[in-house]
Amino acid sequence: MQLTNRRDMGFVPISIDNYIKKHLKNNPRENVADLKKRLNSALSDYKIGVKCHCGNDIWVIGSALVGNSCFTCITGERHPTDDYEIDAAIDKSSNKKGVRNIDDMAPTEIAGFFDDDGNEINTDLIKKPSLCLTCVHDNDPNEEILCNMTRYDQRNDKEFICFAYRKKFR
Ligand SMILES: [Zn+2]
Repeated sequence: MQLTNRRDMGFVPISIDNYIKKHLKNNPRENVADLKKRLNSALSDYKIGVKCHCGNDIWVIGSALVGNSCFTCITGERHPTDDYEIDAAIDKSSNKKGVRNIDDMAPTEIAGFFDDDGNEINTDLIKKPSLCLTCVHDNDPNEEILCNMTRYDQRNDKEFICFAYRKKFR
């Protein structure tokens, strides 16, 4: 499963006008009207849900410079660190989901489990198969993480198979 890498934490929000000011300091020959046009065009593409060819949300600032692509495809880095993003493009993603990534968490904070990309999995959202209700391990706090991993791994399978299953005796 590909969860989005776009999180509020990595990007530093900036307004289009302030970004243009910063950009001009480093690129004094830039055509302001043209840059603004490209930023607004990438922003409206972002808002209507245009994605990078890889499926991620586009990075508006990078897309204005090199064409619509996500942060990772433009920079080759997995996550933004202190990179700017137009504020209006960050607001939307923060409404969508607040997935935490293991790379950004303090070691003491890391509990529970994470998918292959390091994004935290909300175990409350994992469905409990009916088989579990008749299992001795059901509601056993020592087994909970293992049970959740088994459930998560098979979340898209039609039939749930668990090798730790033991029928409750009554
Ligand atoms: Zn991409």
